[in-house]
Amino acid sequence: MTFADLGAHPTLLRALQQRGYETPTPVQSAVLAPEHAARDLLVSAETGSGKTVAFGLAIAPTVLGEREKFDAPKRPKVLVLAPTRELAMQVQRELSWLYHHAYMRSVACVGGMGMALQLKLLAEGVHLVVGTPGRLVDHLERGALSLESLEALVIDEADEMLDMGFREELERILEAAPRDRRTLMFSATLPPEIVKLARQWLTEPQRITATPPQQQHRDIDYRAHVIAGREREHAVVNILRAHDAASAIVFCTTREGVTHLAASLAERGFACVAISGELSQPERTRALQSLRDGRARVLVATDVAARGLDLPDVGLVIQADMPNDAQVFQHRCGRTGRAGRKGTAVLLVPVERRRGAERLFFDTHIKANWSDVPDAATIRTRDEERLLESLTAGDPPADEDLVLAERLLEKLSPQAIAARLVALERQKLPDPEELPLTAAAIEAEKRYQSRPVQGRYENRGRDNNRFGNNRFGSSNRAYGDNRSFDNGPPRSNYGDNRGSWGAPRGDVRGDARGEANPFVPRDRPFSERPPRNAPDSAWYTLNVGRTQNADPKWIIPALCRRGGITKDDIGAIRVLEHETRVEILARAAQGFDERSRQPDRQDPRLQIERSTAPAPRADRAPYVGPPGRRGK
Ligand code: AMP
Repeated sequence: MTFADLGAHPTLLRALQQRGYETPTPVQSAVLAPEHAARDLLVSAETGSGKTVAFGLAIAPTVLGEREKFDAPKRPKVLVLAPTRELAMQVQRELSWLYHHAYMRSVACVGGMGMALQLKLLAEGVHLVVGTPGRLVDHLERGALSLESLEALVIDEADEMLDMGFREELERILEAAPRDRRTLMFSATLPPEIVKLARQWLTEPQRITATPPQQQHRDIDYRAHVIAGREREHAVVNILRAHDAASAIVFCTTREGVTHLAASLAERGFACVAISGELSQPERTRALQSLRDGRARVLVATDVAARGLDLPDVGLVIQADMPNDAQVFQHRCGRTGRAGRKGTAVLLVPVERRRGAERLFFDTHIKANWSDVPDAATIRTRDEERLLESLTAGDPPADEDLVLAERLLEKLSPQAIAARLVALERQKLPDPEELPLTAAAIEAEKRYQSRPVQGRYENRGRDNNRFGNNRFGSSNRAYGDNRSFDNGPPRSNYGDNRGSWGAPRGDVRGDARGEANPFVPRDRPFSERPPRNAPDSAWYTLNVGRTQNADPKWIIPALCRRGGITKDDIGAIRVLEHETRVEILARAAQGFDERSRQPDRQDPRLQIERSTAPAPRADRAPYVGPPGRRGK
């Protein structure tokens, strides 16, 4: 089927043809199906599935009808809500080319960017507003934005929107929109709260699942490499060198991690940019632009910063830090293999977290190829082949170059000249790294795994084979072997090894002779984990909130570093509009108080002050730790 067969609006069809988009993606075919015309839709689709063009096409009959172009702009006819600035800007870019021949005027109303221009454009009149919930509510409250003439409303990445705590703002906007509008809700996942939200705010929504799980990943080559945690950075270097992708994204969990890794890669000679929550909008835009136009080849990013970014040519994704849950993992992988292109997604697995990684692949139905990180010798051999190829290819030399070559030959032998040329080319390549700790850790793990099975697991009373066969080097064991578990899949979360393999706690980490498994960190029973909202806790206020991209993912490590505490000393975290309230348990409060007041050179902008507990919120549960802990 072509876009024309699906009845796409003729004005948009012209733009699609000019852009070279001939075949609709599954989500585009689904939303354009005749039975979905003019209906409210609840669509589960990932970033990269072509969902922006999909909703752009879907709303055309509603907002353009038979007309070829829009009338003069007044109050907006279309509103698209997006959870992040980047996604909003990206949606605006995408819809701008799609509606180019319809003379559409649009404005992006996003936080962190000047108000004046947004107010001016809104006052002049627009057809489309794309924005983040906080800033849109701001405009509504100032009376700068009127939704009276709204005909179509799109909620993009609705699950992210709720995860980021935007429910209140979202509902405020939905309330302000006319009842007879058409509403399309897009979400990567459809948890019950999203379905409930859709039932409440959409009119008899038609549910569409355009990308069934088994089809989502076919263009991605998934790889997992076991590493020694201390060689993570070196492993990233070697993977970047081995793949030589035109552009790559490296994910880290914390802002500090991003800053450190990006600096280190740049120092080694990689053309590298970084984005994390602390960057201003112009800084992020600059970083992304340099990746798009090829000045940079590597982007180092946190999950929050990279959410929803449209970087179509990313051929390689490296997860330098393990993700905390399956959703984050899939989001990261989804940065590559987009719109039919091929890509590679590499997960670095510290040796002690191998089981967490296996569980991750099991849960996401992904078959990964487990192999060793490319070592320095392999990369050097490959460099030589590439050098030979590139130096012998190309156009015949120009006359003036031949003259200079003759003069060179008078001074040096042909071998010496060739060797100098090779040396010059080699200099341009960042050095690959040796990985002695990784090799040793893998070797030690192999030895541990190959000891007699009986002693190690005799207390378990279960099928020892499940573990005994699970050695390093055996490819695809993460998925293939584990599926045959007699007791269901392992239960650990991905962040650690708690309760892994469904074994009683503590069982897996020691063998019958009392020898500890050196690869599994010691853990504490759940009963010792911190309570939330305890009466004797101390509360602190951080000067960052939702508008500054506050996220427990980077707040927790920052608090631990600044206050000399561990994550177990942190209770509830409440991210508000412009600030974040954090609960520090009584046992750690005094030390935290003293240390957090010291100026911090690494993160001078983050201020931490003693405060009171925030009022309880009826509509949102406080942050209660990573997903693996929830509900236990
Ligand atoms: P999205 O899922 O909206 O983030 O889109 C991902 C990328 O796919 C964007 O760069 C789109 O321009 C591109 N794209 C969307 N539809 C098509 C199509 N039918 N053919 C090729 N590329 C597309």
